[in-house]
Amino acid sequence: MTNQTQWETEIKAELEFLENIFQRRSIVTTKELNSSWLIRNGQKLLNLASNNYLGLLNDSRLKKAASKAIDKYGVGSGASRLMTGNHPLYDKVESRLIQWKRAEAALVLNSGYTANVGIISALMKRDDIVFSDKLNHASIIDGIVLSRAKLQRYRHRDTNHLEALLMKAPKDKRKLIVTDTVFSMDGDIADLEGIVRLKEKYNAMLMVDEAHASGVYGKGGQGYSHHVNLQDKVDIQVGTFSKALGSFGAYVVAKKWLIDYIINRMRGLIYSTALPPAVLATIEKAIEIVEEEREKRTLLLQHAEYFRNRLTRFGFDTCESESQIVPIIIGANSQTQSFATRLQEEGIAAIAVRPPTVPENKARIRFAITSAHQKKELDWALEKIIQVGKELEVI
Ligand code: PMP
Repeated sequence: MTNQTQWETEIKAELEFLENIFQRRSIVTTKELNSSWLIRNGQKLLNLASNNYLGLLNDSRLKKAASKAIDKYGVGSGASRLMTGNHPLYDKVESRLIQWKRAEAALVLNSGYTANVGIISALMKRDDIVFSDKLNHASIIDGIVLSRAKLQRYRHRDTNHLEALLMKAPKDKRKLIVTDTVFSMDGDIADLEGIVRLKEKYNAMLMVDEAHASGVYGKGGQGYSHHVNLQDKVDIQVGTFSKALGSFGAYVVAKKWLIDYIINRMRGLIYSTALPPAVLATIEKAIEIVEEEREKRTLLLQHAEYFRNRLTRFGFDTCESESQIVPIIIGANSQTQSFATRLQEEGIAAIAVRPPTVPENKARIRFAITSAHQKKELDWALEKIIQVGKELEVI
């Protein structure tokens, strides 16, 4: 046996540990056949695992917008936006965003992950305080850690706990409340009205992450803040184009001076290459489609409600899910892994979500419904899920 260095031994031991507790991840090649089905390891599976909520990923209008932009402008952007990468399509997309979101100013960013990390770390500094829902997305946590501000995590969707923490915080400190609107792993929704009331009472800033609500909620798909008509009370709305909008990248909308500040201080914007023109072209088209095709949203939420009701009727715990994200709690990591494997054998792709993404003993299967699924496909899947649930004594 060759001698291993200490760092080799340690890193390999950590991987082995992850394996033993059923938390070792791997990347599997997946090819989308259409918005409902995919091919993985040569097997055709019903896709209940993607964030392609409106089935736009393969939309011919988006493909055409992308290929036209490639023909006209090429494939790369060549530099960051502050250097030479600020293609004229950025202006078009940002104007469209301002119209769509009825906002004062907008900025297109490279991804939801960089948006959250970059905006929070730009706005908050050491000694400031960030109040963050316990189940906020990892990119929000990473942004807070990078900012070195004090992190105060409040219990999931618990505005009483949030208020107790706000009350204790020194008055003179800058405060930011940050929450997902639709939560990515539980599919439940923040109490935005309660949070806005507290933000006003304690003079805090409010930032929301509409990643899973953009395209899904609001009359024109603008997000959950618009759905409850609180968009003007939210200081910073972040969202992604990579889920319901079928494209890639992210946005932030806010008052003009806040956007100016972000342009000057967000390192992920200043030091990273701009998006390729083809991506910008698809974003512009996707906003237009999402705004116009309301029936897709209606169908999506009908599908999700049907799917969720059937699962709860058969005894599954679907948390407080209200959206197109429908989890079923399994509990232990090993059993959750077995559940996902059995579903795969039955022809269904669904994600096993384990700690640290979710709390210990709350491992789950996360189903994501799309408007492109047919009712008969959902019925077929439900039958299999119920069968596996009985087999593994989850229900
Ligand atoms: N916020 C939330 C709530 C998310 O679920 C995700 C993606 N999983 C992101 C941000 C990151 O977005 P992107 O994939 O565009 O980086």
